[in-house]
Order: sequence, then C-alpha cells, then structure tokens
Amino acid sequence: AQSSAGQPPQERSATDHLNAALPIELRVSTLLRRMTLEEKVGQMTQIRVGKLRGDCDAVPGPLREDCMKPVLVDAKVGSVLSGGGDFPAPDPSPKAWAQMTNAIQKYALDNSRLKIPVLYGADGVHGHSNVVTATMFPHQIGLGATWNPKLIEQAGASTGQAMRATGVFWNFAPVSDIARDTRWGRYYETYSEDPHLAGTLAAAAVRGMQADDGRTARLAATAKHFAGYSEPKGGHDRAAAFLPVRTLQDQVLPPFAAQFRAGVKTVMINSGSINGVPVHASRYMLTEQLRNRLGFDGVAISDWQDIRSLVTKYKAAADYPTAIAMSVNAGLDMAMEPSAAGEFTAGLLQVVRDGRVSERRVDEAVRRILKLKFELGLFERPYVDPAVANELVNGVGLDLARTAATESMVLLRNEKSVLPLSPDGGKIVVTGDTADSVQRQLGGWTVDWQGVPEQGPVPEAVTVLEGIRAAAPRASITHATDQSSAVAQARDAKAVVVVLGEKPGAEGPADTEDPALTAQQQDLVNAVRATGKPVVVVLLTGRPQVLGTVADADALLAGWLPGTEGGTAVADVLFGKANPSGKLPVSWPKRVGDQPMSYDQLPGTNGGESSKYDPAYPFGHGLSYTSFAVGAPTVPATIRADGKAKVGFTVSNTGSRAGTAIVPVYVHQPVAPLLVPDKRLVGWARVELAAGARQAVEVEFSADQLALTSGDVDGAGRREVPRTGYEVVVEDKRAPFTVR
Ligand code: BGC
Repeated sequence: AQSSAGQPPQERSATDHLNAALPIELRVSTLLRRMTLEEKVGQMTQIRVGKLRGDCDAVPGPLREDCMKPVLVDAKVGSVLSGGGDFPAPDPSPKAWAQMTNAIQKYALDNSRLKIPVLYGADGVHGHSNVVTATMFPHQIGLGATWNPKLIEQAGASTGQAMRATGVFWNFAPVSDIARDTRWGRYYETYSEDPHLAGTLAAAAVRGMQADDGRTARLAATAKHFAGYSEPKGGHDRAAAFLPVRTLQDQVLPPFAAQFRAGVKTVMINSGSINGVPVHASRYMLTEQLRNRLGFDGVAISDWQDIRSLVTKYKAAADYPTAIAMSVNAGLDMAMEPSAAGEFTAGLLQVVRDGRVSERRVDEAVRRILKLKFELGLFERPYVDPAVANELVNGVGLDLARTAATESMVLLRNEKSVLPLSPDGGKIVVTGDTADSVQRQLGGWTVDWQGVPEQGPVPEAVTVLEGIRAAAPRASITHATDQSSAVAQARDAKAVVVVLGEKPGAEGPADTEDPALTAQQQDLVNAVRATGKPVVVVLLTGRPQVLGTVADADALLAGWLPGTEGGTAVADVLFGKANPSGKLPVSWPKRVGDQPMSYDQLPGTNGGESSKYDPAYPFGHGLSYTSFAVGAPTVPATIRADGKAKVGFTVSNTGSRAGTAIVPVYVHQPVAPLLVPDKRLVGWARVELAAGARQAVEVEFSADQLALTSGDVDGAGRREVPRTGYEVVVEDKRAPFTVR
C-alpha cells in the first residue's frame, strides 16, 4: 500500500524492517509482529563469546560452527559479549577482533530468517580495555579528579571509536556508582563520591561514547550498575546494601538521571541486593524507580549471570524458570547469561507458556532491544572493515590520554615547594613497587578483568621511571629496586621519588579490609626520609589509601591509575612542565575506620572528633604551583523552585605561573528540619589563567539540585526543593538567596 500525504506511513511489505527509509517505530512493530516467541526470547539473551569458539566453553580458539549453531541458530541469541579476558587468541590485534565480530555477525545473519544483527558488547571502562594494543586512559577515579567534562567526552569518543572499529557496538561503561567506601574493590571505577560531579562526568562520557562519526554503526553506552552497587556492607563487593529511599533518591540515583538526560541507551543492573531484595528481582527498582520515576525507556541488561544468582546465590527462587519470571516481571529486558543461553531461553519460553510472564512483557523488552539495534544503525551496517581496524585503534588517543593523565594528578602536599624538581643535573633516585610497572599503573580491566595477566603480552605504556628518564636527560636517574639500595643511592642524591601502588584487580578479589599503604611501603619511605633528602611520594592507587607515616613526606602526588601515558604525565608534573590542577573527587581518609566516608555527611550531636568530617585531605583539595584567589560570589536574591540561577565570581591567578583553577560551588542550607550536609556541590568553574590574569566566571545550577527526599514516615519518598533560605559557598565566601 502507498501512503498519501498527511497520513501516517503504511506498511509496504513483509520486509519493511529492512527498509532504512522507514521510521524506526514502524520498523520495530513490523518486525516484532513477524517474530516467533522463540525469536523474541533469543533477542533477550546475551552469551559470552567463549561459547562460540575453542572448546565451545571458555577456552580461547578459533570460532567454530558447531559452537555457534546451538547458540546463534538454535537458541537464536541476539547479543554476544567479551567479559574481561575474552579476546581473540592467539592474535589479539584489533584486526583479529574485527574479523571475529564480523564472522559472528555473518554466521548469525546468514542463518537467520529475519536478518536481525547481533549486538556485541564489552567493558571499555578506560579505553577499549580488552585490546592489548589500545590506548588506556586513566581509570574513572583519575578522570574524576580532572573535573573536566569536555576531556571526558573526548576520551569517551576515542574509546567509542576504538570499540566500533573492532565491531563492538555496546560499551558496558561508564560506571555511575558513587565512591563511598575505599574498602570496595571497584572504588577506582567510579568518578567521585559526589553525585553531581559523578553524574556530570558520566553524562559527558556517554555523549562522547555514543557520538556518531558516520564510519560505522553507532555505539551504545551503559549506565551501570543500577543502582546502589557501590554501597555493599563493609565494602565487600556484592554484599547486601541497606539504602533508605532518601539515600537512594538524593545520592545514588542522580548520576543515573544525569545520564538518562544525556540519552544513554542502556543500563546494567546492580548484582547486589538493597534492603533485602536482590535488585535483579526488584520491581521497585527496575520499574517504579527506573521507568516510572526516572523515565528511562532503553534496554535494561542483567549483570553477569545474575538471574541465575537469584537461585544459586540468593536462594530467592527455587529454580531457574522462577528466577527468570521474577526478573523479567520486575522489568529486566536482557539476560547476560554468559554460559547457558539455551537454559535461559528454554526457561523464559516455559514461563511465558505457563502464564507466569505475559507476552506483553516480552514484547516490551524485545521492542526496546530492536529499537536499540535500529537506532545504532546495525541493520544497515552490521560489519566493520578489518583492514582499517589496527589503524583506528593502535596508538590512537595517546595525546588525549597524556592530557587526561596530567589533568588527573592531584598535588596533595608540597612542603617548602620541593616540587617542581629541576630536570637539570644532579642525581634522582626512583624507587617503589610501582616505579616501573605497566600492570600496576593500568590497573584492573586491562586485557583481563583482574588486570594484565602474568602470561601473555603486556600493553605498551610509559612507566614513571621511563617518564622521568625521558624528561630529565641531563640528570642522573637511578632505579633502586629494594629498600637498602634506595637508601644507599639516596645518600648523594638531590631527591628521591617513591612510587607506590597496589596490585591490580576488580570486584571481590580487589576488596580489602585495610585500604592503607602497607608497612613495607611506609618503611621504604621512612628509610629514605631518614637520609635527610627531599622525598616525593607518587601514589598510583585506585583508592585514597590511608597514608600512615607517609603523610609526612615532603611532597605527595596522587596519580591514581593513570593509564598508558601515566609515566609521562607524572614526570611532566614532577619537573614542572605541567602545573598540577586536579582536585580530589573523593575524601582522602585519615583512618581506615572512617569508612564509609564522604564530605556530605549529616550533622550529629557529638561535637567531638569522632563524629566530625575529619579526612587527611578533604573532597576538592588539590595544590598548584601557582596560587589563586576568588572574589565574593553573587547570586540572584530569589530563585523559583523550578528555576535556575547563575553564580558569578572572579578568579585570579595571584602566583607567577600559568595554571588551571577548579573552583567548586556549594550550597549551604542554614536551617534544615530535614537534615542536610553542611554543603552540597552544585557546580564548579574550571578556568585556565596566565600568571597575574583574572577572569569573571558564571556557574549555573538549577534549584532542583537542592531537592530532598523525606525518609520519615509521613513524607516517605516525596522529593521536593525546600522553599527556604540558602547560601552559595565559594571557598570561604558566601552569598545568601531564597528559593520560592
Ligand atoms: C561486572 C560488570 C561487567 C560484566 C561483564 C561483571 O562481573 O560486574 O561490570 O560489565 O561483568 O564483563
């Protein structure tokens, strides 16, 4: 049938869904109508690539038809993932990746009735991290210290390009969880403890990752892990979390909401439980909060095997089909069922047939999945060009990675201005467990989820030792690999640089009950300090470790997990080629026992030390080689509860060298019957200033950032902006305003 002007387009033929000129809605409904129930449940399934090759389980090897058939043809699975460590072997090059994803795609398309392309996903959490030759950016915690959304958007775009070049069109990133407990093994995967900072940066990453360069199909980002994953009890990964609705709505969910506004296409569900309900089975979380309150209409995927966990780990369901019904009815659209696709599809078919899950619910999920595949352009461009894959990945983004690493450096302490060091003449001793370790500076989720494996190729990266050697060719640089030689070499040195880190890891294996520098690390620093030489400690850790006696070192530089260009960036800061500008995106604790910790704690009645916010370094701390001064802020006297306001102030560089000032803007609520933190971040200015320069800046915020949820019985769950008096706080200067 032909459509005439003014009328909605009519269906033209049974193959309309392949017609790119038609609106996506129509393509989705046409296709959905033609699908069998088996085809639908297949679309709701994601399998691990290891099932398609080698021994048809996890052992790497070439793709095999007899492994692919049961998954892609019989179970009709619509999505494949590489979990950390799942890359093509023996050749892990981008070209081999592209050939692998193309071959899977071709097999699936050639053997399918409706030609629905496969969507391939992986964890590109700091670059295309499964690919040995890809450029690694700093981990999210380091990017958080840059307070630079533009840069994070660019890093996201670079990561997206690398992934797309290899046929991976779904990135399980960025992590939107907030950093609350340094004992947790995934602390470094978050941007910040502050919901506004984390959300702003995650939204920027999403914009970059999902940007279209016209070369291939597009990429979908993932807001993960929805929600409350970063707050397991005791910091033990996936342990139970207890989150009042207020914490959930005012702290945990806002970073997700920021990404929804930025158009993130998918969410991954929190593997843990909240208030005694596994999130994968929580209708409250997956429908009430995610869909009804936050309005998200993209695809919700499970985390690794987590529907099955409802049976095996939580004992919340007696059998797998029951667990599937619980999760799908709660609102889940796709199961990451890495190793038993057939069992998932059979289980879902069973519960649809026996009426425990409605076909309507299945259609809703499949509709979202198909819409995603159409929006990404996968039907039109299911393949990539392996001939250009290496060139689009290898060495790409190095300059950006260097900038990002440099901007992530936070100068915590610089007594008597020991830094910057002179690169000319004299001897500098470099020592410490992370001075020359690619593995440690890249951290977890690099090649493998636990970091670069012992066996196999090590990515190319500049270590701190190499960076220092390259930056100071006229100095004598020695590398001491143990404490005795460090002390001996220090005797005639002008300075000692001690680089300390932690073993790479992720999730449970990276949890620790003692997030502190080890006795051995402290001994080393004490021993070199005893020589009387200036000692600079560089901390390449994914969490702010309790410093112990290292707190007294002459200089402390937090470099996080800085990635491929980390060593160059550290050297640039040590020798003053770059002026450090990073600010702590988290609180640096003084004592392990202070965990969980964040600057936005509520007031208590014990005025003594024990209930005060008392970090070693507070959220927002960071020194520079120059100095800045801010002027008094201005703000409109009244703001509407649904309105926005601009805070104006000047920033001056009062020192003698150029630098970047990051100035947080907070709001203080002097009287608050519903308790509030002393201050809440609502925005920040980031200004580059030449020595002596001064600039007027404006920082906009919306009043709804001040909204509070009542957790008390009579107001439970209601979130609104208190109409009352406030103050804008910029450093030590304040300006009052009222919300009406
Ligand atoms: C992690 C996710 C990740 C998934 C796939 C899980 O163990 O929790 O963050 O996306 O594995 O690799």
